[in-house]
Amino acid sequence: MVERVKVRFAPSPTGPLHIGGARSALFNWLFARHHGGTMVVRIEDTDLDRSTREYEELILDSLRWLGIDWDEGVGVGGPNGPYRQQERLTLYQPFTERLLATGQAYECFCTEEELEAERQNLIAQGKTPRYLGRCRNLSLQEKEAMRAQGRKPAIRFRVPQGKLLVVDDLVRGRVEFESDDIGDFIIVKSDGFPTYNYAVVIDDALMEITHILRGEEHLSNTPRQLLIYEALGFKVPQFAHISLILGEDRSKMSKRHGATSVVQYREHGYLPHALVNFLALLGWSPEGEEEIYTKEELIRLFSLERVSKSPAVFNLEKLKWMNAHYIKKVSAAELTKLCLPQLQRAGLIGTELTGEQMSWLEQVVAAVQEKLEYLAQVPDFVKVFFGETVELDEKDTAAQQALALETSPAVLQAFLTKTREVSAWDVPQVRQILKEIGKEVGVKGKALYMTVRVAVSGQSHGPDLNSLLALLGPAVVAKRLSYTLENILAH
Ligand code: GLU
Repeated sequence: MVERVKVRFAPSPTGPLHIGGARSALFNWLFARHHGGTMVVRIEDTDLDRSTREYEELILDSLRWLGIDWDEGVGVGGPNGPYRQQERLTLYQPFTERLLATGQAYECFCTEEELEAERQNLIAQGKTPRYLGRCRNLSLQEKEAMRAQGRKPAIRFRVPQGKLLVVDDLVRGRVEFESDDIGDFIIVKSDGFPTYNYAVVIDDALMEITHILRGEEHLSNTPRQLLIYEALGFKVPQFAHISLILGEDRSKMSKRHGATSVVQYREHGYLPHALVNFLALLGWSPEGEEEIYTKEELIRLFSLERVSKSPAVFNLEKLKWMNAHYIKKVSAAELTKLCLPQLQRAGLIGTELTGEQMSWLEQVVAAVQEKLEYLAQVPDFVKVFFGETVELDEKDTAAQQALALETSPAVLQAFLTKTREVSAWDVPQVRQILKEIGKEVGVKGKALYMTVRVAVSGQSHGPDLNSLLALLGPAVVAKRLSYTLENILAH
């Protein structure tokens, strides 16, 4: 039975929100919402060289786009602020002073070069590199001498020897670590900034976080964090380390596997809920075979008991399938609005559309809706509806054959004549006209329909022929037929 629940998502703003980070954020959010708890978003920006406000904004924007909201944190405020670690420096100080005063931490004057030499030496001896404690027991005089040399100390945590450190992980079960495998680690850098392993503990404790749900890559940090909890007398929260996300070749998901950030999926035209549905099932599965869930269902069903220990495999085909499912459910008007930026970027439409153009565009988008897997495909799928000329697809042999038939010129000529007799037509009229041409020229089936399709679109596949012709209208169809007769058939 879970009592009070307070969780946090604590990204470092050193890049856009990745799929793994988004999944961690989502699991925290689902867990919080399931238990009626509190969701916090805190920014871990103590790595000054790599953190930027632009990345912070990008991450928050991706969370909002996914529909992940938070009750406390950056941009929202709350009783435990500020929520950026850079703004919390004075909060860490008293704890550091306490650790120094009790001897649980000490000043370390070693330079980068000295530490590197020690590392290399250990590696050469076949040992695991770690800090051997050169500054562990410096006298006051020794420290003064170091200071006189202009050295600025970092602060290290004095790791107790011979201690068994146990993480009772809600996903991984009992995981044990030996303190002897951990060298004294830096908690405050010489520039005065706390390190991740230190700040994270103080923040989680002061913010009264009850459950820490995060990626498995942080499991190895947890023993260090446990030592800090203990040294500062903080209550230890519950940990749940979620398995890695692997690419389809079973190696850790990386850029090699394609898009890794949420913004990239957004730009390709994945719908936010498709991504949420997909991410929810990366490492968690409710009972049963169902794959499609609303947000409300995910919240209702989510539980840590059903989070898997084994790594999740990112299957792009499944994501596409899910996205196609959600695309089909959107109304044509809504879908068209979502596609406008893609269509504008492709130069197919301008920025200002009249009501008439908009409703034509909605019908065009509706004609390809069934086939769409992601919105970036839209320009390519609908380009057949734009322009007055025809480009024959050189690689499309079926298309070449359809135009090479002996009957083709007569079919196209007959159709051209018909287009000049009407100023507008709808699908039933188009159907009727095509039938009449078939009778006139004495052809049917492919020799009729494929020939018309290729003459008008340049390819043997595409949207439903009658809809295509109806939406193009007789004037444009006439222009394209003339173009094909003069420029393609004549050669
Ligand atoms: N700032 C850490 C990261 O982005 C968060 C780790 C944690 O959740 O404790 O990986």
